[in-house]
Amino acid sequence: MPEGHSVHRIARQFARNFVGRTVVASSPQGRFAAGASAVSGQNMVESWAVGKQMFIKFESGDWIRVHLGIYGAWDFAGSIELDATIASANGRMGQTNARGTVFDTDGENSLSSIGAPRKSRVRMGEQTTAGRVGESTTAVFPPNPVGQVRLRLMTDSVCADLRGPTACELLTEEQVLGVIARLGPDPQHDSGKLAQEKFVERLRKKSTPVGVQLMDQSVVAGIGNVYRAEILFRAWIDPYKPGNKLSLDEANALWKDWVKLLAIGVETGQMMTMDGLRGKKWEAAMANRADRHWVYKRDGLSCRKCGTNIRLDMMASRKLYWCPSCQT
Ligand SMILES: [Zn+2]
Repeated sequence: MPEGHSVHRIARQFARNFVGRTVVASSPQGRFAAGASAVSGQNMVESWAVGKQMFIKFESGDWIRVHLGIYGAWDFAGSIELDATIASANGRMGQTNARGTVFDTDGENSLSSIGAPRKSRVRMGEQTTAGRVGESTTAVFPPNPVGQVRLRLMTDSVCADLRGPTACELLTEEQVLGVIARLGPDPQHDSGKLAQEKFVERLRKKSTPVGVQLMDQSVVAGIGNVYRAEILFRAWIDPYKPGNKLSLDEANALWKDWVKLLAIGVETGQMMTMDGLRGKKWEAAMANRADRHWVYKRDGLSCRKCGTNIRLDMMASRKLYWCPSCQT
């Protein structure tokens, strides 16, 4: 399931390539035909995300809400311009002489598509993968819809196909506000003091383990399995600690760390959770998941801090990775 950073990146792709332009909408598969025809031919005026949900607004005041769920993904094709905040990762990679081409072995690479607008294809879901420029599929615009395309959004130069989402629905503004009210805060959407206070208050109200609550989208929107494990390790907090036993300082620190890690994730497209890496170490960590996480998927290996074996438990039916020595 895509964690918050990837959904923000998708929303920014739309902001860069669709907002301010007339959009033709269709539902090649048919399941969103009425919704698509309601917005087709209008200007897209906003695109942003809260947690794992994306909201796009059209000039009529209609909104589309998309939740990718486990299997959903967007495929972009055409002359795609990369969002400046995403492109800034290129400068950063440039310093390591790896100009935008650090390939990730797990297919999480999202930097290979950065550059001037050009004919290309990018898939954005749980992971981002770029198609090769010059692939025969880029020759025809718009590409023929392949498979179950729930929603196709198209300008005169860019086409985005949505497949396999958990949710894709037409909403009024009031309904959008209702959805957001039920979600916990997301620092990329609201970085204010109130958002932090809301998180701290919700987290410390219940005796539910903090490891469960960080995945609860009504406590904080956007954290998934990877960030949950890494944030708790970075704070040296036992995932089983009840929320109401966390100190105010601990809860505030969790929020601040999430603000920081999410910003890095949005910028680079990868869930980088190690600090202070430079040069070759940064490159290695960007290229391999095994080199950028403290505990995630490291069960049975020794803890990078203390040498204890990293543990794997099932918590609320999701895999939880943690160090029983450091996190006490
Ligand atoms: Zn340890």
